[in-house]
Amino acid sequence: MDVSSKGHGPKPYRRELGLGLGIFGLVVISSYALSITPVAFFFDWKYWAGFLGFASLGWLWIGVDAIPGKRRRSKSLLQSWLVVGLLLVIGGSLGSVPLLLPVADSVFAALFLSLGAKAAWTYMIRGGLKYCVRCGEYRWFLRMNGELYCSKHGHKWERQ
Ligand SMILES: [Zn+2]
Repeated sequence: MDVSSKGHGPKPYRRELGLGLGIFGLVVISSYALSITPVAFFFDWKYWAGFLGFASLGWLWIGVDAIPGKRRRSKSLLQSWLVVGLLLVIGGSLGSVPLLLPVADSVFAALFLSLGAKAAWTYMIRGGLKYCVRCGEYRWFLRMNGELYCSKHGHKWERQ
């Protein structure tokens, strides 16, 4: 099949818009969590220590997406649901200690913000929606070792 004669066609912006809306939603949830946080917490270093800690954990927990034939979806102990359960239990028990309440309170804002940031990082900054010559379609491309690969079949991106 000669895909080049078919041409690209218009870029399916709706898919980029969908991603953008998803990220926006996560940011809104995070801002809501921030808005219901007692203002005094923002002056407490423990809140920001918790925020940084949970945001990094969230970032690591998401891991990397698989690229067919190139890499598997990252799976480690850190990525298991057991760890999430443990974190929630730890977070919950932290909240019951008044001194550590600011730490527990940062959990939602931090996790949702890191989810949104990771999605933006993976699909907008490092990757993107591009035309895959070999698929003959627009695909999400993911970056690995400086090259972009289509997320559906692992085709290397060829600049046209
Ligand atoms: Zn492809």
